[in-house]
Amino acid sequence: MKEELLVVGGGIVGLSCAYEAAKRGGRKVTIVDRGDFGGQASGAAAGMLAPYTENSEQPDPFFRLCLDSLRLYPEWAEEIERLSGISVELTHTGSIQVALHEADMLPLRTRQRWQNEWGARAEWLDAADLRRLEPGLSSAAAGGLYCPEESHVYAPKLVKALEAACRRLGVRCAGNAGDTVDLMLDGGRVRLVTGTGGRFEADRVIVCAGAWTGAFERWFGFAVPVNPIRGQICAYHSPIGEVRRMVFTSQAYWVGKRNGTLVCGASEDIAGFDTSVTERGIARLTRWSGRVFPALADRSPVHRWAGLRPATLDGWPLLGPVPGAPQAVVAAGHYRNGILLAPVTAKRICDVLDGKLPAAELAPFAPDRFAASARTLG
Ligand SMILES: Cc1cc2nc3c(=O)[nH]c(=O)nc-3n(C[C@H](O)[C@H](O)[C@H](O)COP(=O)(O)OP(=O)(O)OC[C@H]3O[C@@H](n4cnc5c(N)ncnc54)[C@H](O)[C@@H]3O)c2cc1C
Repeated sequence: MKEELLVVGGGIVGLSCAYEAAKRGGRKVTIVDRGDFGGQASGAAAGMLAPYTENSEQPDPFFRLCLDSLRLYPEWAEEIERLSGISVELTHTGSIQVALHEADMLPLRTRQRWQNEWGARAEWLDAADLRRLEPGLSSAAAGGLYCPEESHVYAPKLVKALEAACRRLGVRCAGNAGDTVDLMLDGGRVRLVTGTGGRFEADRVIVCAGAWTGAFERWFGFAVPVNPIRGQICAYHSPIGEVRRMVFTSQAYWVGKRNGTLVCGASEDIAGFDTSVTERGIARLTRWSGRVFPALADRSPVHRWAGLRPATLDGWPLLGPVPGAPQAVVAAGHYRNGILLAPVTAKRICDVLDGKLPAAELAPFAPDRFAASARTLG
């Protein structure tokens, strides 16, 4: 009999895990979400695949995880597009981190040195180079780091494509199934009950509940500190090519999409599980848009939205089995990089399920690592 696998949470992380498990074969896979698939952080994301920009300090395990994922992306995206018939708009624009002041340059130069040893091929741009590559930039842009390897996808299409690919592979997709009210991990089987009366049973479970993963600590038996960090974000109408590359400053980023919008993000604010958009949050983005791209000063965003990033205490994801309940695995807490980290997360988690990757290999991302430090301190 085939092993039954239940995936809880249908954002990009859950969908990617379900897709990978189904692709490998040998399991009956069900994915369950209390709402719509991709309806939370994953559908709200800017879709940037930017391991170099996101990691400023050193080549630590998190940087290497991000880099591995970037390298998996082209083949992974192509395979999902082929199965689903939906383009995910993987676009290889490269990125520019812009320094608006002399003082911003030194950290970028330091980053360039160590990241080039890891394949970034980053080039330093002076003010004239900057305006040649990105003519719309303000004359205040003093210099910058061009990173040709970074790219982006259209996140709402990627989650649609993943859901369609899952269905093509025979994954049972149970959307709008209601919140989990009980999860039984004792004994051999996994049993999940939802508030709307849904009942799911399986041999193994992967919990991918994004910013809501903390609610599972009562069943795991240890602290799972995942906090929602709201990201408010907006988009302008913008002729294609007005902003050619992904542009980052210390205050905001801009990324041009193929549908003729320019996405500008994102705030980082704490508002519990509230996904509303505030005037203040968007005003900061529009102020910086006008400063960095003067042509945007007279324009207003045409869309505004928000999502909840699942943030752990150290900003690294939780990946691996639940101690004491090896039939349960966690894949959550991807904070600012869940879109980037989707392929590598799915691969590593399915390698653990298949017994090909010892959980110890994922030790820096162990789901109970905060419980362990609390015990040591206590
Ligand atoms: C504004 C913004 C911009 C971003 N930009 C980028 C970017 O450019 N690049 C990048 O890599 N990342 C980006 N991110 C981060 C990225 O979106 C997240 O890291 C990623 O989406 C997390 O995916 P997830 O599947 O864990 O969570 P989610 O997408 O939030 O999915 C979790 C799912 O679990 C479901 N769920 C929760 N509890 C239960 C339960 N008890 N039972 C059943 N289902 C449940 C929810 O309904 C939800 O659908 C951005 C995030 C935001 C908010």
